[in-house]
Amino acid sequence: MLKTSLNIQDKSTWLTKKQPCIIAGPCSVESPEQVLTTAKLIAESGKISMIRGGIWKPRTRPNSFEGVGSVGLKWLKDAGNEVGLPVTTEVANAQHVEECLKNGIDVLWIGARTTVNPFSVQEIAEVLRGVDIPVLIKNPINPDLNLWIGAIERINAVGITKIGAIHRGFSSFDKSSYRNAPMWEIPIELKMLCPNLPIICDPSHISGSTDLIQQVAQKALDMEMDGLMIESHVNPLQAKSDAEQQLTPQALLELLNNLAVREKQSQNKEWINNIEQLRSVIDELDEELINKFASRMAIIEKIGEYKRDNNLTILQLDRWEKILNNRIFLARKVGLSHDFIRKMLELIHQESILIQNKVMNNGENKSEV
Ligand code: PEP
Ligand code: MN
Repeated sequence: MLKTSLNIQDKSTWLTKKQPCIIAGPCSVESPEQVLTTAKLIAESGKISMIRGGIWKPRTRPNSFEGVGSVGLKWLKDAGNEVGLPVTTEVANAQHVEECLKNGIDVLWIGARTTVNPFSVQEIAEVLRGVDIPVLIKNPINPDLNLWIGAIERINAVGITKIGAIHRGFSSFDKSSYRNAPMWEIPIELKMLCPNLPIICDPSHISGSTDLIQQVAQKALDMEMDGLMIESHVNPLQAKSDAEQQLTPQALLELLNNLAVREKQSQNKEWINNIEQLRSVIDELDEELINKFASRMAIIEKIGEYKRDNNLTILQLDRWEKILNNRIFLARKVGLSHDFIRKMLELIHQESILIQNKVMNNGENKSEV
């Protein structure tokens, strides 16, 4: 990993006056009333530092709501003025930045689908040359720390010094309870490489559903992240984007009241914090391992069906030998012991044979497997 030296203004001067820094608001700005009512209800708590709202929405498939466009910038800014809070929105190209600057948007954020593209990030950086505005940079959708740091460096290189990162999780092919896998080890490494860079966690886009947001938000604070970006909508069921993950203002306030904000002062507490961070990473890695095992066993079952339908034996020794040799070679390359990997493979192999036996014994009746 390349070392990086960023020229960053102290976060306490522009971002973390309130600890933790809570950025909340709807996924998308939909109407003047929707953004104003949401802003008023969430700001009542006194715990919110900034109002968010998407104006141009990067949607996975066409023909879904793609945001209200520039007209919504005034609605967002007016809502912020009404509740006395700064506002932030996502920019994906030079024109978005220009429109935001014209409308007095206080903070810009670069979305995950833009961070992946150095051309787009550079285009945004060029229009920001000589402008004094804070920019938050979401992680790229793929788990590539260098790409994330590269985007931060591009924005910093044109003179933007109020910079923060947003951890919103990573796209993964594996089945998981998350919409975007948190992979906590990546923001932790970012923190180690850039200790002055504030990191905000976005538990809404990590979770994808309201039931996981509290635990992800708590984990983020336990990992010493500087704040949270949480989607809240006055009427989530009617939301035009991300309806499943938006909290009502009341649910948001409940979540914030339930958060334990830990101190970071004494040596001992620092030690506890470090241990908690590492344990959280272990929890994540174990969940990933379990999901990988589940994917592996599902494929084993399919192979079992194929063997059954083609009248083949379950145990095929030459294949097993190849697996052993190849996995032991791979394990050695990353410093894992021969004994450990052999024992683990044997366990996996036993379970695989058991699964295929079941498939064979149940004949055509797959539902009983
Ligand atoms: C959003 O914040 O609504 C959004 C589109 O985020 P992301 O770039 O993380 O997908
Ligand atoms: Mn969203």
